[in-house]
Amino acid sequence: MTDRAVLAFSEEDNLTFELLTLARQLSNQLGSWAGAIILGDGGERVVKCAEYGADKIFVVSEVDSQKDGPDVIAEAVSQVILSIAPEIVLIAATKMGREIAAYVAQSLRVGCASECLDVSLKDSRVEVIRFMMGGGFLARQVFEGYPAVITIPPHRFQAVSSKGKGIVENVKVTVQKKLSKVESRAVEKSGVKLEDAEVVVAVGRGLKRKDDLKLVEEFTRALGAELGCTRPISGDLKWLPEDRHIGLSGRRVKPKLYVAVGVSGQIQHVVGMRDSKVVVCINTDPNAPMHREADYSVPHDLYKVLPAIVNTIKGIKGKA
Ligand SMILES: Cc1cc2nc3c(=O)[nH]c(=O)nc-3n(C[C@H](O)[C@H](O)[C@H](O)COP(=O)(O)OP(=O)(O)OC[C@H]3O[C@@H](n4cnc5c(N)ncnc54)[C@H](O)[C@@H]3O)c2cc1C
Repeated sequence: MTDRAVLAFSEEDNLTFELLTLARQLSNQLGSWAGAIILGDGGERVVKCAEYGADKIFVVSEVDSQKDGPDVIAEAVSQVILSIAPEIVLIAATKMGREIAAYVAQSLRVGCASECLDVSLKDSRVEVIRFMMGGGFLARQVFEGYPAVITIPPHRFQAVSSKGKGIVENVKVTVQKKLSKVESRAVEKSGVKLEDAEVVVAVGRGLKRKDDLKLVEEFTRALGAELGCTRPISGDLKWLPEDRHIGLSGRRVKPKLYVAVGVSGQIQHVVGMRDSKVVVCINTDPNAPMHREADYSVPHDLYKVLPAIVNTIKGIKGKA
């Protein structure tokens, strides 16, 4: 096996499998092998990694991605990377993954490109495409050296099974537990995986009162959707838990149907939903940017439109 390598890491196994798809594509171009780093118990996860294309799986049993903090995880991942010296390191851009990638790149003194939409090799240099200026522009950027530390948004690539060699290596690392002091604050969480939802209703500041959420929730239920929101709704007004906000600083969704209700469509929001298949915009202002993203524009008052749709759906279900 060649010395060249592309490594994948995420604290969530299903995202590691997605990254392995990209790792395989890149290693085919590089003439390298594809590997994955697993923290904690290897077990069945090792077999799965091989099924999704890992030639080598590095198991670090003394660190646990569910219990240890990002600094401890990053330190362990950095040590594995140092011992392997891969060309490319792919890390899933979860909240924790973003932190880990920055830490890893800093401790290895190498470059880090975050939230990359694509990665390729040009003249044996690693090239990425990523959003710039809050998502308004796409930039093509080239790494000057190795390893290139790259984060990839969850679900950007599909996990495709592809038999890897599946060689397992248990790696010993020396990490000081609790490197930094972590202060925890209780954050209300919905626990909903918006990223996996097939239908999403996103509510924005077009809603006048918190109480009116009942109207949107009824609409959401009628559609069989998950409820998301803009940042002001969760961050400023605290009407919904933080993990429901969609956009640059929140979740990235790509449902089959996305219904924006009283959402203006600022770029920081659009970045999180622009991969949706069909978009409906309900907004009284016909010039709101969200209408430009929409396949179906409804330039009317949400307080009239939502009950009308709910009644229609109830009528259809009643007849069925
Ligand atoms: C660094 C940074 C990161 C950010 N990250 C995010 C992010 O991840 N996600 C995010 O969402 N935002 C983010 N923002 C905020 C973003 O810039 C916008 O301020 C925000 O998306 C606007 O939210 P909104 O559409 O709910 O509110 P508004 O912009 O106030 O829009 C409300 C809309 O409701 C419409 N409306 C009013 N009444 C009705 C009615 N009765 N019926 C129908 N429509 C009605 C109005 O016409 C208007 O278009 C970020 C900002 C910064 C600076």
